[in-house]
Amino acid sequence: MNESSAASDLSPFLRPAPWKRAPRTGRARIRRSSIGREHRHLGRRGLAIGIDIGGTKVAAGVVDAEGNILSESRRSTPGRDPRAVEEVIVELVRELGAVHRIRSVGIGAAGWMDLDGGTVLFSPHLAWRNEPLRDNLQRLLKRPVYLTNDADAAAWAEWRFGAGQGESRLVAITLGTGIGGAMVLDGRIERGRFGVAGEFGHQIIMPGGHRCQCGNRGCWEQYASGNALGREARILAQANSPVAQELLKAVDGNPDLITGAIVTELALSGDPASREAIEDIGEWLGLGLANLAAALDPGLFVIGGGLCSAGDLLLAPARRAFARNLTGRGFRPAAGIELAALGPNAGLIGAADLSRVSSRLRG
Ligand SMILES: [Zn+2]
Repeated sequence: MNESSAASDLSPFLRPAPWKRAPRTGRARIRRSSIGREHRHLGRRGLAIGIDIGGTKVAAGVVDAEGNILSESRRSTPGRDPRAVEEVIVELVRELGAVHRIRSVGIGAAGWMDLDGGTVLFSPHLAWRNEPLRDNLQRLLKRPVYLTNDADAAAWAEWRFGAGQGESRLVAITLGTGIGGAMVLDGRIERGRFGVAGEFGHQIIMPGGHRCQCGNRGCWEQYASGNALGREARILAQANSPVAQELLKAVDGNPDLITGAIVTELALSGDPASREAIEDIGEWLGLGLANLAAALDPGLFVIGGGLCSAGDLLLAPARRAFARNLTGRGFRPAAGIELAALGPNAGLIGAADLSRVSSRLRG
């Protein structure tokens, strides 16, 4: 039995930790009495290592059954060579495994995995093309390895231990350089028919709009991501607008150096132009979420990623635009929109937990 089908067959075991958080009101709650015993059983299982492979760094951490990180280590991503990336993973597992007794290893990476979870079909940052990564690593590490998309891993972590606990129909959005998306439905990750669901960032929201890396024009991630924020602020600064003076000051007068992170920082310190730029991004975010609500009808959107440090500067306009564009508004309950709770370690925590739960299910 492969991991993904094991997880879905045994989904009653995979409810979020009920002792971690007070119940929310107004949304579907899990029935605690029916799941507590299984959960305590899962909770006694051993430690797992979660590894988050990004374009610039590989982060690893030892994670316990309640989603706590006990120790961490990281390395630079060693170029695009698949063998070199495997070597770094092995090094990190050996280093952390020397201190902790590890049962399993979960790997989260940007890209598409096949439904079986054994093969990376495509990864944008790395040279993995139809790479049988799970088997390679299991051979090298001599432990069960769980391979997952980084957005799925982050969504799982938020559902198990973070802002999405108790939600039966969760959509998680990660706002970074692009937009990552994932769904946890009835206690399992929904990957679609071919394993590539959740590419919400590439819904076309402005036909003929900005060109996207995916080859299309007008994708949502060209309007509601950290990259979009940086681009809009650069355009404003390049126009030499007097409202952009704080932005220009922050980059010594060179508009090319403006990034989404710089704009967010300035917005938080009160710069009106940066606040406006984030408000625009928030409106695009809310519009896209309304589209997703029309299609998926979730109970909650959890918004994570670097752009979230803007907090309510981003979320307030997003909630307004969502309410304004929601299909059937006024005649239907609306999904909540909340910030993610686990920060940049969500992917690592989720990958570890998925490997722990999955290896538990395989006995
Ligand atoms: Zn696209």
